[in-house]
Amino acid sequence: MQLAKRLENISESETIKLNTLAKELEGQGKIIINLTAGELDFATPQNLQKAVAKKLSENKYTNTLGLPLLRQLIAKKIAAETGWKISPQNIAATAGAKTGLYALFQTLINPGDEVIIPVPSWVSYEHQIKLAGGKPIFVPLTKNFDLDTAAIKKRLSKKTKAIIINSPHNPTGKVFSRPALLALDKLIKKTSLFVISDEIYNTLTYRPKKTAVKSLAEVISKKSNLILINGFSKSEAITGWRIGYVIAAPEIISGMNKFLSHAGGNPAVPSQWAAITSLKQNRPNLQTLNILAKRRNLVTQMLNTIPKISFYEPDGAFYFFINIRLICTNTQKFCQQLLANRQVALVPGEAFHAPGFIRLSFAASEKNLTLGIKRFKDFSANFKE
Ligand code: PMP
Ligand code: GLU
Repeated sequence: MQLAKRLENISESETIKLNTLAKELEGQGKIIINLTAGELDFATPQNLQKAVAKKLSENKYTNTLGLPLLRQLIAKKIAAETGWKISPQNIAATAGAKTGLYALFQTLINPGDEVIIPVPSWVSYEHQIKLAGGKPIFVPLTKNFDLDTAAIKKRLSKKTKAIIINSPHNPTGKVFSRPALLALDKLIKKTSLFVISDEIYNTLTYRPKKTAVKSLAEVISKKSNLILINGFSKSEAITGWRIGYVIAAPEIISGMNKFLSHAGGNPAVPSQWAAITSLKQNRPNLQTLNILAKRRNLVTQMLNTIPKISFYEPDGAFYFFINIRLICTNTQKFCQQLLANRQVALVPGEAFHAPGFIRLSFAASEKNLTLGIKRFKDFSANFKE
């Protein structure tokens, strides 16, 4: 069958694919230790369930960009947290941050436009940019996974339209340093470049430095070219409810409105009420953070006992990015065999433009982390290519 040419260079999201595979194997009765997933293993918070239950009678379309109250509360939160005074006209609520990013690229990118993606990087930026006719330009992070502004500068061209920043970073867990982000500001403030800052993990940080930048709104001076991406999937453990948002100049938001009014319409009403409830509650979820911090320590201790690997202890998000180059050359094969032989699912670095690494998500129970890492250790010790 002849499908559209635009799909020829697109592959399915590797993270979603592996998470689905692990869940399918579980569905067949196999016991899989699934450490792929970028989603918390927690139940839906009770307060969100209750709030949404009260709104189930609301069954009509809302504004494409979301309920006015939701957009007001997001504006209030951003102003309070970053000092950036924005209004609901700066906000689009979308069916997850992923849809927000997709609609944004469709609104902003012309064929041939270049977008800088620091790598390693989350799987979807590249494909979303290609689907908009743009060209992803991959620029490595530093050895320590910090933003490398000098390297970015070298790759700027007349066609560069935007730079994607993701901090806390998926897949490394790095929070980019303030000096690196200030250097980025210096680089772009007199240009027309857009900075797209994906801040979906910014409520999940562990012992942050006093100087840590929580939102790029704190450091980017030219606000007309700053775009923030965020959502509730990670902070509220509601990945499947699909609710996120984009903050940008009103012209961009009205372009997105045009696009989304045909592409999918408003995000689901119950999910908008979940987001409203979360925003009204307006407090950091300390319980989630405590649990994740404990898991992070457990994983660090266990990984420290494994020979021939090295890893960065994450500042935020819920991933360990582990260098296993001394164990194998093909991390994709390593992960396939680990799953087939020891029923442990991890994501190979190839998915993030970083062969030689594997990503381990610690959004899993302590029991599964302990068992999964024990098996990984054992498997690595005996692995032969
Ligand atoms: N950005 C990053 C870096 C992510 O890891 C994810 C994972 N889902 C998303 C965006 C999209 O989040 P969602 O669509 O669930 O809001
Ligand atoms: N972002 C998560 C991950 O990296 C969820 C899957 C996806 O959206 O790619 O695993």
